Amino acid sequence: MAVDLDTRLRTVVGAAAAKLEKARGFTTVRDLLDFLPRTYLDPARPAAFRDLPQGEDVVVVGTVRSATTRQMKSRRGRLLVVDVEDEAGGGTLQLTFFKPFGHQDRLVPGARVVCSGQITTYGRQLQLTHPDYAVLNDPTGSSSGGWLLGGLVPVYPATPKVSPIVHGDLLDLVLHAIVDLPDPLPEEVRREHDLPDLLEAYRMAHRPQTEAEARRGRWRLKFQEAFVVQAALARARLASDAVPAVPREPVEGGLLDALLERLSFELTAGQQEVLAELRADLARPVPMHRLLQGEVGSGKTVLALLAMLAVVDGGAQAALLAPTEVLAAQHHRAICAMLGPLAEGGLLGGADNGTRVALLTGSQSAAERRTNLLAAASGEAGIVVGTHALIQEHVQLADLGLVVVDEQHRFGVEQRNALRDKAGTAPHVLVMTATPIPRTVAMTVYGDMTTSTLRELPRGRQPISTHVVTADRPGWLQRTWERVAEEVRGGGQVYVVCPRIGEEDDPDLPGADTVGPGGPTDVRPPVAPQGEEADDLLSSAVDPDPDAEEVGSAAGPSLHGVHQVVRALRALPSTRDLRIEALHGRMSGDEKDDVMRRFAAGEVDLLVATTVIEVGVDVADATTMVVLDADRFGISQLHQLRGRVGRGGRPGLCLLVTQGGSGDEGAVTRLDHVASTTDGFELARLDLETRREGDVLGASQSGGRSGLRFLRLARDEELIVTAHAAAWSAVEADPDLTGNPALRRELDQLDAERAAFLERG
Ligand code: ADP
Ligand code: MG
Repeated sequence: MAVDLDTRLRTVVGAAAAKLEKARGFTTVRDLLDFLPRTYLDPARPAAFRDLPQGEDVVVVGTVRSATTRQMKSRRGRLLVVDVEDEAGGGTLQLTFFKPFGHQDRLVPGARVVCSGQITTYGRQLQLTHPDYAVLNDPTGSSSGGWLLGGLVPVYPATPKVSPIVHGDLLDLVLHAIVDLPDPLPEEVRREHDLPDLLEAYRMAHRPQTEAEARRGRWRLKFQEAFVVQAALARARLASDAVPAVPREPVEGGLLDALLERLSFELTAGQQEVLAELRADLARPVPMHRLLQGEVGSGKTVLALLAMLAVVDGGAQAALLAPTEVLAAQHHRAICAMLGPLAEGGLLGGADNGTRVALLTGSQSAAERRTNLLAAASGEAGIVVGTHALIQEHVQLADLGLVVVDEQHRFGVEQRNALRDKAGTAPHVLVMTATPIPRTVAMTVYGDMTTSTLRELPRGRQPISTHVVTADRPGWLQRTWERVAEEVRGGGQVYVVCPRIGEEDDPDLPGADTVGPGGPTDVRPPVAPQGEEADDLLSSAVDPDPDAEEVGSAAGPSLHGVHQVVRALRALPSTRDLRIEALHGRMSGDEKDDVMRRFAAGEVDLLVATTVIEVGVDVADATTMVVLDADRFGISQLHQLRGRVGRGGRPGLCLLVTQGGSGDEGAVTRLDHVASTTDGFELARLDLETRREGDVLGASQSGGRSGLRFLRLARDEELIVTAHAAAWSAVEADPDLTGNPALRRELDQLDAERAAFLERG
């Protein structure tokens, strides 16, 4: 039977496959091959044991000189001590085993062994405790570990219940069982970029002779990953270009012109450029797919409105989708305000050429919703604003010409396709994001879209200064709340952001008179465990998912909760006279709207909230933001959050409060970065470097996979750009991939994973 990537591991390696499946979920040959070494060791260096680096993983070759078993002094049981001599002559290394059984028969004087483990010292003696080893001249004739000789030794992340040597043996079986692998990279591409074929690449990555070879094999695997994702996006784009769209051109003296005349400001040069791009796209007979990125406050919304008016002028409707009700309502207000009488088409006092703007949210009364649905369905409303869910599920639009998706970095390929499918003919699509997207991410996630970027902020925007407040310094927190009170007395409003909602009956904060961690009674558990677990924790802290509002939930009640903080601030002498309200995702849409409206109207001084306020919220008098447990948030998230302040005429202030000494050094560095620059692109790049790829992409955005296997978006820019060009030209030359069944198969698999992902939700 020919073994290929889809072959069940069990059929190649037998019963041992069960352990790999249990520990790592591996079921196919591909799973094992895609699990790459974390590093490589060179057994030829150092040859002398005395040069072995302490505390490090090593692989060494030597000969057993003596082996003794003795009773342990301090506890029951016997100890096997094996002295191994290096092949350079002279140096010895001690192998110790607390359970001699099985080892004492194999580790006999004269046995030549390869051992791997972590070097420790006992007295001055170098030791390996319970090392993994293989006997090379084993009298039983076992060939285990033979692969450890010759070339570099691959070191894999440890797999429970599978020793590194067994793991290597299984890989060896697999590599030898494969004769040939169909290659999704076309031969021309391999030739042009000097890439080994797929099987060779796996061999190079797992069994390299030299470091250069390991690099070459891995490079090829990354290249393929980038190529496949790009090819999928290229095909999606070609497919959507093949569906005609209706060109929408503004009419002379129409709504678009009328709004440009009404606006109280001039468009910036950047905005004018983007407007021209949008108009050109909309006038084409293929659907627009454009991503508009620009800092918070860079003026994307007015551009979206102008594009929508071009479409209304062109005889169709436009829908604006926001991720939350608060944002939908705010957009509705902003759009109506900008349009003025232009939004009162058909009403007394409205403009003759005016249109209507319908708002659809879940918290509307049934009657209100019915009126708006009717306006949308009849075409009377040229513009429909609502949350994604509502519009996607319920609205029948008379003639949908343009969909604008706001602030939704999770709006993946699937959702874009779904929208297209819903609308008979293909609507034009504009996605707006305030999260600056590094080029590599844009290519990998939004590779089927054309990107526009607003780099300048409109003039008059005030700078935001950001400071890190370490809460374990006595008095600093108190000072923070006094500063907040001063700000309010000066006419400003303040956001206080908490990492979790908490419960009404959460216990009072320790030392509630200061609000915040501190005081000797505050015995929090350390929040950052080490190793893999720390990674997971970190990733939950930086999850870009707006629904994951409770960023620190993993660490439990030791983090500030909205309810606790509201209670504490209402009691604190410096803040108790202020008007304080809470805002979080467990409130009903009505309640949220009400609080937000009162905050916007200046009837609330201090808004204690979760990250529900993250995106797009615009309150001109909000001058200050205090982020509690700021170390629990990601870099980009903090940058987004602080974009809420300093939007009016006064400079913004952002205080990032962190409990010092939480043991997470990276967290403090992150905060310092955020404080040191307001350049969103720079921060997005840093963010990318400190996160894992899956987190950056979000599950639905890596082209369907739960994450990327090999690519590091922060580091592989050159490769991604090269693979992008190669993939697009390959797909353009052969859109159906008739000449490349292996690539087709990869893409089908991507689709299947994507479908499975959608089903899981
Ligand atoms: P974004 O959606 O990119 O965060 P907005 O479109 O909400 O930004 O714009 C932020 C604020 O700046 C709004 O009050 C908007 O009216 C205003 N604005 C937009 N463009 C300009 C401009 N060219 N000059 C002055 N103000 C502008
Ligand atoms: Mg906005």
